[in-house]
Amino acid sequence: MNKMDLLLKANDLRTRFGEDFKSPVDIMSLAHSIDNLTIVLYPMGEHLSGMCIKSNDNPVIAINSGMSMGRQHFSMAHELFHLYYDKSTTSICSKKIGHGKEIEKQADQFASYFLIPPNALKDKIKQLKIDRERTLSIEDIVKIEQYFMVSRQAILFRLIEDNEISIHDVEEMKQNVIQSATCFGYSDTLYKPLPESKQYMTYGYLIKQTNEAYKSKLISTGKYNEILLSAFRADIVYGTEEEEGEIVD
Ligand SMILES: [Zn+2]
Repeated sequence: MNKMDLLLKANDLRTRFGEDFKSPVDIMSLAHSIDNLTIVLYPMGEHLSGMCIKSNDNPVIAINSGMSMGRQHFSMAHELFHLYYDKSTTSICSKKIGHGKEIEKQADQFASYFLIPPNALKDKIKQLKIDRERTLSIEDIVKIEQYFMVSRQAILFRLIEDNEISIHDVEEMKQNVIQSATCFGYSDTLYKPLPESKQYMTYGYLIKQTNEAYKSKLISTGKYNEILLSAFRADIVYGTEEEEGEIVD
């Protein structure tokens, strides 16, 4: 698969989700809309970004929730490549972007095109350079990553690939990432994971099916609780404190 194939696949997936070929997307919300998919968030340490397992009709995508939110977005787009365009039934993916086996590099390139469509990136850069021809500044980088909701590593990977910045400039741009964004008035949400207590979670098909099986009396209360607790869903089994003061707005 060459770059053009990967771009066409990225556009194909955008079409499937009802998205255009230009706008930034909320990848987590798109993934939640896939009917038979179970999503697991789990801190996987320093080396892995995620995995995709599709040994039956009910695939599972797991994301390393210890990574920054921006990096998790990139990882989800990478795993969607494995889900839709890769024949392997199990993929275990490294955190380092653009490295490893050919299929891993392709999944990264796909993720980059899916989250940062080439035309949208070109327009954004043109808009930033409107006053004069110059190299991209750190403020520009922050604006671009915030717009497309991806991590610093993910945007630098792409800008090097597109010859928009030189390897020489990159080292400095990898430093003090949070500070560089907050100084320009942005929130640090994109650059941090959720608090540790919220890094274990299961969403999607497994939860929905477990609830349906319980309602139809196909599983006992004990089994129901056991499945949900092993899927980190104590909030469903025991309820949450917040529920009493639920905000509907
Ligand atoms: Zn992968």
